[in-house]
Amino acid sequence: MSKFSYGSVLVTGGAGFIGSHLTEALLARDCRVTLLDDLSTGSWRNIAHLHDHKNLRVLKASALEPDVLDREVPAHDLVYHLASAVGVKLIIDQPVKTVETIFRAAETVLSACSRYRRPVLLTSSSEVYGKLKEVPFREDADVVMGPTEKRRWAYACAKALDEFLALAHFHETRLPVFIVRLFNTVGPRQVSQYGMVLPNFVEQALEGRPLTVYGDGTQQRCFCSVFDAVDALIRLPQQAHAAGQVVNVGSQEETSILDLAKRVIKLTGSKSEIRLVPYEQAYGPGFDDMARRVPDLTRARDLMGWTPQRGLDEIIRDVIADLRTRTPR
Ligand code: UDP
Repeated sequence: MSKFSYGSVLVTGGAGFIGSHLTEALLARDCRVTLLDDLSTGSWRNIAHLHDHKNLRVLKASALEPDVLDREVPAHDLVYHLASAVGVKLIIDQPVKTVETIFRAAETVLSACSRYRRPVLLTSSSEVYGKLKEVPFREDADVVMGPTEKRRWAYACAKALDEFLALAHFHETRLPVFIVRLFNTVGPRQVSQYGMVLPNFVEQALEGRPLTVYGDGTQQRCFCSVFDAVDALIRLPQQAHAAGQVVNVGSQEETSILDLAKRVIKLTGSKSEIRLVPYEQAYGPGFDDMARRVPDLTRARDLMGWTPQRGLDEIIRDVIADLRTRTPR
């Protein structure tokens, strides 16, 4: 296991799906970790197995609380800001909370990091590319945002604004900011509750319910294992020259959602059927989905020698194994 060049780290959103895996990976590298989570979408269950770890401190607090950050940020060498509203469904159902929490949390964290001159890694999203059509998406490509009347784009805009603010800190004061645009990240501990497709399909398959494919299922995505994504999150802030840049992290193995459903059925051995559900029915009227989304990984490779290692079937198997143990049926 490679050493980590920071001795102590603050992880906002540390009880979440990605945050809990990151925390585990940091602890395995002998790093001291303080995990901050308000449990809005994260869960103690994700970190229960780490509770007695001598190098872990857990704080139930929000990244929106300046007092907490004023106390915690200076006590650490690096901050990972992962706390965020997640999932398209949440964005559609709670648009005010989504926009406010995404932006205010980033603003609060960045201003504390700026005050105490602490490097910070911010997780952004491939949603920022909006409806861009030309794949693969390069970090410096023009983004194609949908109209403000469609709620989905609020998430993309909020994340884009976070990126702008982080980069502004870099440009004005050279605060070391690292920005990762995560593409569809999946793996153990991701829950179906926020609408993410893979845990949803696996749960449906394990329960013998129909797999709900939205639209005609020809839309394509690249699913990256959380283990690969965490490896990138660990590598990036150790590359000083990566500060002030946006870096894509994702897989380039494309699959249609219909094909994903078929693979899940095959790998679970389920007798479930596939049901096509119109977007309107799934997300309400006026929903925009993107047909393809593939990251260009040149920058990730050049900056930190990173490429994803896990293939889609292996990733699906990881999720099946996790959901089989988590939801006894
Ligand atoms: N999707 C689906 N069935 C589901 C959940 C999602 O067909 O039960 C589709 C969704 O419309 C999108 C893709 O799967 O085209 C990926 O959805 P997810 O919410 O996981 O991530 P997104 O790429 O939308 O951020």
